[in-house]
Amino acid sequence: MTVFQIMIVGAGLGGLMAACSIRLRSTHGVIVLEAAAQLQEVGAGIQLTPNATKLLLRLGIAESLASKVAEPVSFTFHRYSNGKVLGHRANYGAEMKEKFGGPFWDTHRADLQIALYEKAKELGVQFRFGAKVTGYDFSKPTATIATGETLEADLIVAADGLWSLARETFLGHPDPPLPTGDLAYRIMLKHAGIVDPELERFIEKPSVHIWSGPHAHVIYYNIRGGTMSNMVLLAPDNLPPEVARAPGDIDEMRAIFKDWDPILNRFLDMVSSVDKWRLMHHEEMPSWTNDQSTMVLLGDACHPMLPYLAQGANSAIEDGVVLGRILSTVSTREELPNALRKYEQLRKPRSSFMHNYAENQRHVNHLPDGEEQQKRDKVLREEFENPAEDYPYCWLNPQMQEVIFGYDAYVEVDKVL
Ligand SMILES: Cc1cc2nc3c(=O)[nH]c(=O)nc-3n(C[C@H](O)[C@H](O)[C@H](O)COP(=O)(O)OP(=O)(O)OC[C@H]3O[C@@H](n4cnc5c(N)ncnc54)[C@H](O)[C@@H]3O)c2cc1C
Repeated sequence: MTVFQIMIVGAGLGGLMAACSIRLRSTHGVIVLEAAAQLQEVGAGIQLTPNATKLLLRLGIAESLASKVAEPVSFTFHRYSNGKVLGHRANYGAEMKEKFGGPFWDTHRADLQIALYEKAKELGVQFRFGAKVTGYDFSKPTATIATGETLEADLIVAADGLWSLARETFLGHPDPPLPTGDLAYRIMLKHAGIVDPELERFIEKPSVHIWSGPHAHVIYYNIRGGTMSNMVLLAPDNLPPEVARAPGDIDEMRAIFKDWDPILNRFLDMVSSVDKWRLMHHEEMPSWTNDQSTMVLLGDACHPMLPYLAQGANSAIEDGVVLGRILSTVSTREELPNALRKYEQLRKPRSSFMHNYAENQRHVNHLPDGEEQQKRDKVLREEFENPAEDYPYCWLNPQMQEVIFGYDAYVEVDKVL
C-alpha cells in the first residue's frame, strides 16, 4: 500500500477538517502550509448547523469547544421597523439536535479553528506557518513558498480561500472573486458591559434574531458560552472597488439602520468599532481537480457564496470530511483520479445549490415594503406555530432543514465507496 504525501494549502476550517479527516483513517503524510505566521483571531462569529456539528462531534472535539459555543434556545424573525415578532420557534436548539443528530452552535471562527488545529496536531498532521505559497507547478506537483523554497507532494489540496492562487493557477488566468453587491458590518459585544435592563432581558438566553428590511437585514446571535453577542448587518456595498475589507464608519452604519427596531439601535449605541467586509462569490467552476489528478480544491477556494444560509464554513467542513474519507481509502496512485472524481461528484452539486439558494434567500431577506413583503409576512403570521414547505426562511422551512441540516457527509461517502 502506498502512503501518499498530501500537501494542504490553507489552515482555514476547510483545510484543517480535511487534514484531520485524512489522518483519522489513514497513514498518509499530511503537511499544512499556512501563510499567516500563527493562527489569529480572524473573522467573527459563525453559525454551525447540524450538518457540520455532527461531523465535529464525530471528530471528538466537542469537549474542547463546549465552553466556547452558544446553543440558541429560540429563533425569531422581526419586522425591521418596530421589532414586532413575525415568526418564532421556541426550543429551536433542542429541536434541531433531536431532529438532525447535531446541535446548532454559534461560535467564534477562531475558537473552532484552534480546536481543529489541536486535533490535527494530535493526529500527526505537520504544520508550516508563515509559509505563503507564491507559485505552483501542478505537473509535479510542487508549491513554492515566499522564501523561495519548493516543496513536493503526491497531491496538493488547495484550501486557500476566497482569493485562491491555486484556483487561478489551475485556470491559467486571473480569476478574482466577484462582488455580490452586498457588504457586512461585523460587530461583537461583550455582555459584561451591558446595563440596559431591556437588553439584559434580550441577552438572557442564547438566541438567534433576524430583522429583514428593504435591501438590508441583520442577524444576531451569541458566542463564547453566551457571554458575547455577535451581530452581522448586511447592506448594499459601497466600498471602493479595490478594497475588500476596511474599518467601518460607525456613523454611516447608524444612519443606514436609524429607522429600524429601537432594540437593535440600543445595541448599535454600544458599538465602538466595526469592520466592513465586502461579500464576494464566484461562478460555478467547470471542475475542482486537474486532469493529472495532482490538485484538488475545496471550501471558499472553489465555491464562495453569500453567507445568507450560513453555509460557507459548514460546506468547507463537509468538503474536508468527504475528501478526507475518500482519500483515506486510496492505496495506489492509479486510484487517485477516480477518488477525486467521486469527491467532486458528491460535493459540487450541493455547493452550487447552496450558492444559488443563498441568492434566493437574499431576495426574501431584502424585500422592500410592498405587496411581496406583505405576502411574505402573511405566511410568517399564518405559519407562526407550524412552518410549512412555503416558509420563506430556510432556517425554519422543514423541507430546507431536511436538505441542509439533514445531510450527513459520512453517509454520503459510504454510498459511493
Ligand atoms: C460576514 C460573513 C459571515 C459568515 N458567516 C458564516 C456562518 O455563519 N456560517 C458559515 O458556515 N459560514 C459563514 N461565512 C463563510 C465562512 O467564513 C467561509 O466560507 C469559510 O471560513 C471558508 O473556509 P475555508 O477554509 O474555505 O477558507 P478560509 O477560512 O478563508 O481559509 C483559507 C486559509 O488559507 C490561507 N491562505 C490563503 N492563501 C494562501 C497561500 N497562498 N499560501 C498559504 N496559505 C494561504 C489563509 O491565510 C487562510 O488561513 C461567513 C462569511 C462572512 C464574510
